[in-house]
Amino acid sequence: MKRSRTATALTAIAAVAALTLSACQADTGGDGETPSSSSATDSASVGGGSIRIGIKFDQPGLGYQDGSEYTGFDVDVATYVAEKLGYSADQITWVEAPSAQRETMLENGQVDMIFATYSITDERDKVVDFAGPYFVAGQDLLVRSDDTSITGPDDLNGKNLCSVSGSTSAQRIKDDYADQVQLIEQPGYSECIQFLVQGQVDAVTTDDIILAGLAANEGSGALKVVGNPFSEEQYGVGIPEGSDQCGAIDDAITAMVDDGSLETFIKKNTEGIAYTPNADLNPPKLRECSA
Ligand code: GLU
Repeated sequence: MKRSRTATALTAIAAVAALTLSACQADTGGDGETPSSSSATDSASVGGGSIRIGIKFDQPGLGYQDGSEYTGFDVDVATYVAEKLGYSADQITWVEAPSAQRETMLENGQVDMIFATYSITDERDKVVDFAGPYFVAGQDLLVRSDDTSITGPDDLNGKNLCSVSGSTSAQRIKDDYADQVQLIEQPGYSECIQFLVQGQVDAVTTDDIILAGLAANEGSGALKVVGNPFSEEQYGVGIPEGSDQCGAIDDAITAMVDDGSLETFIKKNTEGIAYTPNADLNPPKLRECSA
């Protein structure tokens, strides 16, 4: 088919515009690339041009990249908080923040804030700051639906288990169950799911809310969450050490709880999946900002 020159030129302009737009809206932190911008604290101040937020790209219902769309509970919470800090949704650049790279990304100024199922721990608190928490999950196990041999971490003796490098989930297994279980670490949870489906591992471990989203995403009912959580994972907002944004982020989280938005975000993102948040622990009490 012959196309007019104008149509071809318009298509070319549209293609360039689309490329520019997608470059503006997403960045992948996984390749070690450092987006150029002013210091994290400067660009996170109210009224700046844009804000770079680290999320997961492969956790359905929490932080998920679907083409040019970003969805999930962390995305909703981050969008709400950013708005309270003075940034509209189109001023947000979503950056992939894999578990093992979150502290480094904040230390290097690659992102301004991280909302990525990011548990507050003493170890992490030494090198980054945390606002929040805004949610509490618990570490659990995901197994094949026909497996009745694993009902909790004490049944892992002699089993192969997959988890993600740099996560509290992998660390807890190494600390408490190393002598019984063969731990295989992967960069992301989607890799672990493949191993579980294909039979290379017997279970995947991480936070219950993540596992529920992954199981539902599998679709076929092939996987089930054991439902016996064995930790408390307090999800914080990661910010660079010494940032002056902790108080403003905490104020935004308080508003999000008070106006019912947190509840709405949880409901919206867990609808249709077998997951109920622990009502005794949610919504969590904010901890004090260190800076
Ligand atoms: N919440 C845990 C952590 O921060 C596990 C989930 C994750 O890997 O993001 O390490």
